[in-house]
Amino acid sequence: MTPIGPRVAIVGLHLEANGFAPVTTRHDFLAECWEEGEAISEQARRVSHLPLELSGFYDRMDATGPWQEVPLIVLAAQPGGPMEQAVFDDFLAIAERRLHATGPVDAVYVCSHGGSLATGDDDNDGTLVVRMRALVGRGVPIVVTHDLHCNVSRRMIDAADALVAYRTNPHVDHRDCGSEAADILRRMTGPEGLRTAKAHVRVPIVPWPATTMLSTDGPYADLLRMARQLSVPPVVNISVTAGFVLSDLPKCGITVNVTTDRDQPLADDLARRIAAAAWSDRDRYFADLISSKQAVAMASEAAAGVRVPLILADVADNPGGGGLGNTTWLLRALHEAGTEGVILGLFCDPALATQAHAAGVGARIEATFAPVESEFTRSFVCPVTVQGLHPGSVVGRRGRDAGREIVLGPTALVALEGSGIQVVVTSLREQPADPMPFEMFGIDIAQARVAVLKSCAHFRAGFDEFFPPDRIFEVDVPGLTSNVLQNFTFCGLQRPIWPIDRDFEWAPPAP
Ligand SMILES: [Zn+2]
Repeated sequence: MTPIGPRVAIVGLHLEANGFAPVTTRHDFLAECWEEGEAISEQARRVSHLPLELSGFYDRMDATGPWQEVPLIVLAAQPGGPMEQAVFDDFLAIAERRLHATGPVDAVYVCSHGGSLATGDDDNDGTLVVRMRALVGRGVPIVVTHDLHCNVSRRMIDAADALVAYRTNPHVDHRDCGSEAADILRRMTGPEGLRTAKAHVRVPIVPWPATTMLSTDGPYADLLRMARQLSVPPVVNISVTAGFVLSDLPKCGITVNVTTDRDQPLADDLARRIAAAAWSDRDRYFADLISSKQAVAMASEAAAGVRVPLILADVADNPGGGGLGNTTWLLRALHEAGTEGVILGLFCDPALATQAHAAGVGARIEATFAPVESEFTRSFVCPVTVQGLHPGSVVGRRGRDAGREIVLGPTALVALEGSGIQVVVTSLREQPADPMPFEMFGIDIAQARVAVLKSCAHFRAGFDEFFPPDRIFEVDVPGLTSNVLQNFTFCGLQRPIWPIDRDFEWAPPAP
């Protein structure tokens, strides 16, 4: 008889929810990724818009023996506000219906971002795992992968057998995490019969600004290093998650999640040690930003050749954190200063992209950037020339998006009249984590004097060949992803929490 291997159900929800941003709708998922059934398996085995963890998982499962995939449903949207409860309810109903129809499975792989939030459920990532557990019963392994910007609940950890979170920021280890999840599932469903013990400690620190969560250096990188050093058998995995403070939930904060091979005391001890190290290092989470005025002065110097080319990171308008990608503060300031040699992106403005596509390459049009004003952005009107048009689907080549399809919708390159600024205007929100959205228009990034990027961390892995870290400056302008926590009125966070509250002591609780 041919061995058929374990039957593994696959389900995933990718949304990083910013509690201050507009609600994420069904349309947002349909525009990015809504896949059900066999289409998931087909796309996981080629370049597609699916989360890359799935490709890593499928590759590893395929390479390590026979198995039967039972793909249920995978949704992904750009980071945004809480998802509509009805969409989450539908997602769950579809997952449950498909799982019910397929009969018993031997394991479940939950491939979720972990930073989600629904309008009627503060812990819908937990709810998904709890519901899967209720369907498959206690004996069937459930392994979960998460982004490191996830908000982990004890409820989710209790319902799962293991959590594997990214260890890199900028994120370049999606596939590795999927692969690791596959290895754990193989150990649990194979002759070894691995059974896990888990510990979970939440540390009352919301790491911010986002640059303090880099995995290359800084306080969070040190925690990841410590976790790596402690990850020797019988440890199965240590996931130190940074969380996402703008979700504004009680579960926000750094979490330490240790999974071992049946060794509960060890899991508890390691989780407490890492959590204590995180707390003792809390003073290192602080912002280092320049003002808009400083940014314009530096850009002018770079344009004049007095200073080396630089990146101005518009960290407050990062679609990767739920920003709308359409604030005009830096665009206007640089234009009014007549700055030359500037590339700016990605500016999300579907109306302007449509207008440019209708006008054609070479046309001169009156552009209204950000036609809808809010407390975070003002309209900016300027004549522009359409320099390029693109359907807006391109495969990334470097950093987080390497090998992944980047979906921007109809996209245009426009040049402002009266300054030397070229803007990549997209129809869909996406942060510039990769050079391709510029290069697809023939832009030679090495020739730019100033790159204004609406991103917080991920651009670093995509643009490092042009701009080393000492040429990157983060600018403090208004936006939905401001790096200044005082700019937000939090009501969901569990207080006290560092660094918003400073006058309190904390120690890891007893297991
Ligand atoms: Zn992330």
